Amino acid sequence: MEGRIAKVVVKLKLNRTFDYLVPDELLGSVRPGVQVLVPFGNSLREGFVTALASESAFDKLKPIAKLLGEKALITENIMRLAHWMAEYYAAPLEAAIHTVLPSAVRNTATSFKRMLYVRPTAKAEDLALVEKLRRRSPKQALAVDVLMTGERILLRDLARAAETSTETIRRLEEKGFVEIAADTAPRDPLANAEYVRTQPLELMDQQRAALETVCASIDKLEPPVVLLHGVTGSGKTEIYLQAIQHCVERDLGAIVLVPEISLTPQTVERFRSRFGGGIAVLHSHLSDGERHDEWHRIRDGEARIVVGARSALFAPIERLGLIVVDEEHENSYKQSEVPRYNARDVAVMRGHMEGVAVVLGSATPSIESYQNALCGKYRLVSMPHRVDHRQMPFIRVVDMRHEKSAKSKSLLLSRELVDAVKDRLARAEQTILFLNKRGYSSTLICPECGFVIECEHCSVALTYHKRSDNLQCHLCGAVRRVPTRCPNPDCQSPGFRYSGSGTERIEETVARIFPHAVVRRMDSDTMKRKEAYHRVLGEFRTGKIDILIGTQMIAKGLHFPNVTLVGVVNADVILHMPDFRAAERTFQLLTQVAGRAGRGDVSGEVIVQTRTPHNPAIQAARRLTYEEFCDQELEFRRQLG
Ligand code: ADP
Ligand code: ZN
Ligand code: ZN
Repeated sequence: MEGRIAKVVVKLKLNRTFDYLVPDELLGSVRPGVQVLVPFGNSLREGFVTALASESAFDKLKPIAKLLGEKALITENIMRLAHWMAEYYAAPLEAAIHTVLPSAVRNTATSFKRMLYVRPTAKAEDLALVEKLRRRSPKQALAVDVLMTGERILLRDLARAAETSTETIRRLEEKGFVEIAADTAPRDPLANAEYVRTQPLELMDQQRAALETVCASIDKLEPPVVLLHGVTGSGKTEIYLQAIQHCVERDLGAIVLVPEISLTPQTVERFRSRFGGGIAVLHSHLSDGERHDEWHRIRDGEARIVVGARSALFAPIERLGLIVVDEEHENSYKQSEVPRYNARDVAVMRGHMEGVAVVLGSATPSIESYQNALCGKYRLVSMPHRVDHRQMPFIRVVDMRHEKSAKSKSLLLSRELVDAVKDRLARAEQTILFLNKRGYSSTLICPECGFVIECEHCSVALTYHKRSDNLQCHLCGAVRRVPTRCPNPDCQSPGFRYSGSGTERIEETVARIFPHAVVRRMDSDTMKRKEAYHRVLGEFRTGKIDILIGTQMIAKGLHFPNVTLVGVVNADVILHMPDFRAAERTFQLLTQVAGRAGRGDVSGEVIVQTRTPHNPAIQAARRLTYEEFCDQELEFRRQLG
């Protein structure tokens, strides 16, 4: 009989499903995605129905005990996606289910917040009675006045507004003027944000053409996926906004994914200002309660537009029209736990399964996406100009092999960079110094000739391990002793050392060279708390900081009009990471960083310090030739298979 058997994942980390019988009274309401209570051993356990079947390999099945919640937490579409992820990423279905449903929703511990609300009764509308009340207890009458201006009001807020205590309001209840009852109180993370409604901007030609393609995708799925390659400031976000508008007019929902790091108040503000309360925001800084409520606003169809980080892709929006993945090349779309999915790829899959348009946007699309565009799976749309028609900043490459101090020690900052910073200080303009010294791995590089020791089998840079004092290949595990001299036969410099000079050391050096400048450092060590992050950004924006030093935290999405100089202290750090995407990363990062310079009225300058100035990634970033770089990189990867 159809649908008599339910496959259930029990919340026990058993990584398998169990078959249960659907009892008569639950036939029709037990569907994939609902939460149920099932007998398991000697107890009852919560679980998710993942599928229905008409047969089971087992007999004497136990029946489902109870259906939890009237609505399936996981929609059928999302359940299908979870099945696909489990399969594709070779992960247990249970892990996939955990990924698509936030724990704040999954765990019954978090639920709607209930608070005490006051409502007026019929008696409160009787003016004569209220006037009589006013003579005896003016405060109570005032509370009634306040209450009559709206529908319901929090007990706490009413007391405050009427400048009285909650006791007074309780007395009003005894007299029958009001009712006090607990009700669901929404936790809206954007509740107190003020916003000015914005209107769609008149589009530039390149934007109009791009929007046309995106709308064709929304309407006819032709093309199904748009790869929007637009330089920083070319107006991509405005396209997203107008494409969403197109969806809204057709009663379709939309999801916009942005990397966690660029999910700043600035970003959220732009969407909120255009679409108001129909927006839900999902990111990791929400409390469990806020996430729970935002999620249910989406599930109940109150919010049809979702802006969020990676996991927002699984927002249970019905009748979806568009999925946008901004900065699609970003590494943070990849989850590091099982299932190790890439949200960009799953977005394309969700779009495919639900027949929904997908837009992947970036100033530096990933090589994978570029390849997909070349072979016709995606449609490439380019926006090569900035909205303000300002030139992209000029990138100067400084060869650090020639930079020596008087004692011929190698330097952190080149003469050119120091002079450029001096210039900016004199003109009261701002500088960003960027050093992507992230993580634990360090690469040995010769300060004289730029030689990097690579694995002889894998052609990736070896990683220096401080504890064991040796070099290791992170791909094949080969181990090598650290040479005392540079292995380059033309060099053999004894100055070979590991290139570990993080942001902290740069900060020291900068403070020494520019004792009168205000210098701040921004990296995950100094910015553990998000208030610190916002405070420093605020200070930088208002010009209180002259030089901002930071890691990739400051490379993306931020807009500072007074920054006219960006220095990349050591481009080699990323270039020689033990990763086949190292060159691609370098190109992307340099391009992004360059986008930070000269967004105001003054044009910008970028200085890139490196010991391998002729590396193709660095040269391509200097010339801003994205296609050329990709073609070359694709050829290179093809050669290596
Ligand atoms: P991107 O997302 O590609 O970096 P944005 O959409 O943020 O670009 O646009 C950069 C700036 O230009 C923003 O301040 C935006 O408001 C403005 N802008 C975008 N499109 C237009 C337009 N058609 N006319 C005027 N200003 C625009
Ligand atoms: Zn050397
Ligand atoms: Zn190797």
